[in-house]
Amino acid sequence: MSEIAHPTIKDGWFREISDMWPGQAMILKVNQVLHHEKSKYQDVLVFESSDHGTVLVLDNVIQCTERDEFSYQEMITHLAMNSHPNPKSVLVIGGGDGGVLREVVKHESVEKAILCDIDEAVIRVSKKYLPGMSIGYQHPAVDVHIGDGFKFLADRKNEFDVIITDSSDPEGPAESLFQKPYFELLYGALKEGGVITTQAENQWLHLPLITKLKKDCKEIFPVVEYAYTTIPTYPSGQIGFMVCCKDASRNVKEPLRSWSPEEEEKLCRYYNKEIHRASFVLPSFARKFLS
Ligand code: SAM
Repeated sequence: MSEIAHPTIKDGWFREISDMWPGQAMILKVNQVLHHEKSKYQDVLVFESSDHGTVLVLDNVIQCTERDEFSYQEMITHLAMNSHPNPKSVLVIGGGDGGVLREVVKHESVEKAILCDIDEAVIRVSKKYLPGMSIGYQHPAVDVHIGDGFKFLADRKNEFDVIITDSSDPEGPAESLFQKPYFELLYGALKEGGVITTQAENQWLHLPLITKLKKDCKEIFPVVEYAYTTIPTYPSGQIGFMVCCKDASRNVKEPLRSWSPEEEEKLCRYYNKEIHRASFVLPSFARKFLS
């Protein structure tokens, strides 16, 4: 068992308790704590779990586990990338673990992929403890910028084909990334026909937040759709994405480009063209608010 104490770990189990998901908690068995620090922005914890591989936790909230991260990283990336005819210039806001970058550079059209994360500590510890995700940093098209995503976008106009916001939850440094002014900046930074996806929380827990987010996005983008993926270690086992496009005629629910089944098999473990379409089909309780 771990020598490093952390308030979220008791009797060898990590407990993810938060008022963002009242009355419920994911608990994971800890083999050992690999790293703990208070960075300039957040509490950064990395531990080896008994059955979910290495786990990255920021401000006591699970960001990724090696066992199921591919579901989130593939879906947030390929929903946007395959909704664009020829994505050459891509920006990732957040995403310090490198997993989204790993997915972005699977697309041969990509000439430039910039990642802007506020916290160098996340990038540093991911490079050390999460090699399967941080491998994304090794691609020659990748450029890293350490800084606030909101500020970074303020100077960018007509520059990107796709922007993916892989942020943490709205409590903490990512708060501004869920507000309407951020989506206005995203719109301005996209080229004509550009596409965005953003981490858009969970329909079981955050329907009012998602409803507001969708309304805000609709006041900016002509195409706005909510999709979701299953992922065991995020609260309530799902996470959603807002997918928006500048081109009013684009149907983001239908992949514009797709890989052959053989390529899909080689490149992805979760994403395929059928699940692209299916991820926009919402249960009735959510569809009422989000359509
Ligand atoms: N997929 C994860 C989830 O939903 O739990 C998010 C993973 S990713 C590691 C989140 C990243 O967003 C972190 O590395 C954090 O440092 C970064 N972040 C938070 N606020 C930010 C901001 N304002 N600008 C840029 N990056 C930010």
